[in-house]
Amino acid sequence: MTFNELNLIAPLLQALETEGYKNPTPIQEQAIPIVLAQKDLLGCAQTGTGKTAAFAIPILQLLHAGHAERVHKHIKVLVLTPTRELAIQIGESFAAYGRNLRMKHTVVFGGVPQGAQVQALQRGVDILIATPGRLLDLMNQGYISLKDISIFVLDEADRMLDMGFIHDVKRVVTKLPHNRQTLFFSATMPPEIQKLANTILVKPEQVAVTPPATTAELVTQSVYFVDKKDKRQLLNFVLQDKAITMALVFTRTKHGADKVVKDLEKAGVKAEAIHGNKSQNARQRALGNFKEGKIRVLVATDIAARGIDVDLLSHVINYEIPEVPETYVHRIGRTGRAGATGIAMSFCDDEEMQDWRNILKLTGQKIPVVEGHPYPMADSGKVQINLPKNKEVVRRPNAVAGFNNAQSGNTSRRRFSSGAGRAR
Ligand code: AMP
Repeated sequence: MTFNELNLIAPLLQALETEGYKNPTPIQEQAIPIVLAQKDLLGCAQTGTGKTAAFAIPILQLLHAGHAERVHKHIKVLVLTPTRELAIQIGESFAAYGRNLRMKHTVVFGGVPQGAQVQALQRGVDILIATPGRLLDLMNQGYISLKDISIFVLDEADRMLDMGFIHDVKRVVTKLPHNRQTLFFSATMPPEIQKLANTILVKPEQVAVTPPATTAELVTQSVYFVDKKDKRQLLNFVLQDKAITMALVFTRTKHGADKVVKDLEKAGVKAEAIHGNKSQNARQRALGNFKEGKIRVLVATDIAARGIDVDLLSHVINYEIPEVPETYVHRIGRTGRAGATGIAMSFCDDEEMQDWRNILKLTGQKIPVVEGHPYPMADSGKVQINLPKNKEVVRRPNAVAGFNNAQSGNTSRRRFSSGAGRAR
């Protein structure tokens, strides 16, 4: 299918050509006609599927049809998204796709002074992209009114829940006009999210591009059982593999992220951290350095990493196992994008065994266990007790030579593939 067949107007088609987009992605193919027909939409899709364009393009077309460019006094579209990184990326998408239209948009998020955001709002905007906390803050101060919103987009609803924003979201929804179009996106559909969708959508059309909680199939996964105190050395060991050109390392906490960066620097590996305690500028700079190859490792907390779109990211390393199993799916989905191959490794210690079991249950996958690495768990009995019976084991030599091939080549993909199907 081509964008032409989606009945898009010339200014949008031209912008898509400028962006170099040849064909719509599956979510775009399915969602654009629904949004243009002004229906509510329930979209089950992750970042990386092209979902931003799937809502931004038809929204721009609807606004254009409604002559929105003539008056910029009222906010007509609200996009609510959980993180500032996502908010910025969505803002950039509206700017790119709307380059040949005269729509105005602005982005508001916390962690930075509000002055510039307030000024932009006062100049008048058609499309507002916001994170929930700052939005409510500016609403309370009287800078934002939602009474003229005709289209509401809730982006990454499941992440809003994980991050504890769900009550803020509900509060925002109560301020929206009843007569509106709502587009609801979530990578996974846990019961609470389904309930929220039921309350805010009216006869929605449903679109799903990846089944809920399915681990990206192109990502080769493995797990290392290791004692907590040895994770630092294990990371250094793993990073001796030069095939790891870009690695995104996840920790649970901001403090943990800083510590990993310090340890890596001591070991001579260029690394930076991004998390909520860093200024917006520092985060953008670290991400830029990573994308440009100036640093090899980016260490991130889940919240900060959400929505990071790095082409050709080769490795995701779960230095700590996430407590929420869906987070694992989000994390490893950072690699293996757009048909590229990706590798995800997880370091699981004794205390994280239950979390790891929950991940295996959620993904329904047998994730191969790496044995023969130099930092095995001292009490190996714990691994036996905690693993499902049909565990799959990959033996690796201790030496780094010979480790490389098995770790990053296609050979390992083939070897792992038998475990990639559903276990039950
Ligand atoms: P998203 O899922 O919205 O975060 O988009 C992921 C990436 O895909 C972004 O870098 C977009 O610029 C890119 N993208 C979106 N739609 C297309 C398309 N139809 N063709 C090529 N790239 C696209």
